Amino acid sequence: MALEITDLVKRYPTGTEALRGVSLEIEAGEFFGLLGPNGAGKSTLIHCATGLARPSSGTIRVFGHDVVADGSEARLAVGLAPQDVNLDWFLTAAETLDYHGGYFGMPRRQRRERTKELLDAFSLTSKKDERTRTLSGGMKRRLILARALMHRPRLLILDEPTAGVDVELRLELWQYVQRINAEGTTILLTTHYLEEAEQLCDRIAFINGGQIVAEGTSQDLAAEFGVASLEDAYLELVGRNELSRARIGEVAP
Ligand code: ADP
Repeated sequence: MALEITDLVKRYPTGTEALRGVSLEIEAGEFFGLLGPNGAGKSTLIHCATGLARPSSGTIRVFGHDVVADGSEARLAVGLAPQDVNLDWFLTAAETLDYHGGYFGMPRRQRRERTKELLDAFSLTSKKDERTRTLSGGMKRRLILARALMHRPRLLILDEPTAGVDVELRLELWQYVQRINAEGTTILLTTHYLEEAEQLCDRIAFINGGQIVAEGTSQDLAAEFGVASLEDAYLELVGRNELSRARIGEVAP
């Protein structure tokens, strides 16, 4: 099992219960989508799974490693491509990857080889000595993906990778992540774009109000709600107000 979440509760000091007993299992090799409106608890779940936030109760295991009790092993198994473009503008593309590898304890020679390989895979070789701030939007997104993969994580978490991204770049990113998945990396994608989830994911879970409200293949979900499409199933669960934001062509506010 790549990710095994059991009865996860996360209460923030403000009193907000962002996750209210979430259980979720993602098999090794799966491409899994977590869909839900703003405030549903997606980021909180990712933060708990990557050790950035501490669960109030419940357990999370990444390839068998408990994220609290066995945090360093669990962290090694996960790569996170965050929603924000959180690159260090003063590093070059190559340094960005190299420093990340160093943070994960990769020896120098391995870092050098892996950096070369990833720059090549993400068509960034000609930009390797450019500072990240000078890269185009698409290159920045590719570099963030490459950085998440630097330490060869077996589980890649993509947090809204295409929010506010134009159609062309979105398709390009989809190609990259599909290839990564085909090569064996398990993927957890959060998105509020239904079309994205439908095209990419083997299985999808809907999260709303800190709870998983439905789970299955796109067809399962439609069948469960007696509707024709994933979009209609989402409507049943999350409501009409959210739908306009969830449509792929529109840019999130
Ligand atoms: P999503 O990623 O699905 O938009 P979040 O996990 O960011 O949802 O938020 C879930 C709930 O937890 C929201 O009500 C949000 O306001 C609250 N929340 C998120 N982060 C914090 C925090 N650091 N402190 C207090 N409340 C938070």
